[in-house]
Amino acid sequence: MQLHSRTADIQISGIRKFTELVKRYPDAISLTIGQPHFPTPQHIREAAQRAIAEGYTVYTPNRGELALRQAVAAYYQRLLGHDYQPDSEILVTVGATHALDIAMRTLLQPGDEVIVPAPAYPGYEGIVTLMGAKTVYVDTARDGFRLTPEALAGALSARSKILILASPANPTGVQYSRADVEALASVLRGTDVWVISDEIYAELSFAKEPVTSIATVDGMRERTVVIQGLSKSHSMTGWRIGFTLAPANLTDEFVKVLQYSVTCASSVSQHAALEAMRHGADDARPMREAYRRNRDRVVETFRRLGIPLVEPTGAFYAFPHIAAALGMDSQTLCDRLLSEARVAIIPGDAFGPHGEGYARLSYACDEGVLDEALRRIETFVQSRM
Ligand code: PLP
Repeated sequence: MQLHSRTADIQISGIRKFTELVKRYPDAISLTIGQPHFPTPQHIREAAQRAIAEGYTVYTPNRGELALRQAVAAYYQRLLGHDYQPDSEILVTVGATHALDIAMRTLLQPGDEVIVPAPAYPGYEGIVTLMGAKTVYVDTARDGFRLTPEALAGALSARSKILILASPANPTGVQYSRADVEALASVLRGTDVWVISDEIYAELSFAKEPVTSIATVDGMRERTVVIQGLSKSHSMTGWRIGFTLAPANLTDEFVKVLQYSVTCASSVSQHAALEAMRHGADDARPMREAYRRNRDRVVETFRRLGIPLVEPTGAFYAFPHIAAALGMDSQTLCDRLLSEARVAIIPGDAFGPHGEGYARLSYACDEGVLDEALRRIETFVQSRM
């Protein structure tokens, strides 16, 4: 079968591969999941039901319903201080994944380089590869999983086109401070590098300092694409609603790509999203509180075991150096933890070359489930140390 060589080049993500493997162990506890364990809030589900009953079942404008874009502008203005025009600078996409895809398909030429602080969410590399561009992973492990200005300067080349910055990040849960993003911005000024600021976990932050978008740093708005979405903040992974917030001239180009790939996001989901943006400012709070408590349990367990862990301050992931601490590679550790202790976590190498030696566990689950999983991990680790 003759396929496009770039399609043949990309692989199914290591996360998906491992979640398939878990299905063979029905008694295993899975800490692999990348979505909140809360249902979509009732008021949002009711809004979707009303939208169906009232006949909002037809195409919307390519950019998304104007009322939704207006509500999005107001929502992220309040949350992060973003200042984007609903008519020209905001698009409604099919999840954050589609927003990332549109941004990169618009910006990247074959041979361009995309700088990605690593370990990283595996969703970026596939898009970069499909564009014939190259992912340049920068190892952040020695810097508490934060890209430093020095490391960024070292990674820049004449081919650098995009820096992807996620805060809070998947798989580490680490968040950048205002000082961090200002320092990165000062390296980027004077270059032609764009930033894709992936802010999908912005509402699931437990850091004392609020999340700062690099787009709000002086001189950065004109070269940043903000990626947002409702998958995590409103527990709406299946509704597939995301957004791009970007300068008007770039957004005009995004619309062409969006039009020829999906026409528009689902009309019913857009009505659900409108309700979330108008009346759901507090929807993330119970999740944030539950995940902060779960984070504390995870940190406490790994401290007790003496396994290095950078304390996560957002999202719902922890990324301990557990395989290295036990003298195993990540795949072996996760295979054995699953078959011997019946706990599933994701091997660190699923998050790029610098994830080896680590594993990602998601604590988006009930406290009792997490406690039992941590007890099993503790017994497994103690029997091997
Ligand atoms: N960005 C990051 C960092 C993620 O972790 C995810 C999903 O796990 C996405 C983007 C994609 O989100 P969506 O489900 O809205 O496409």
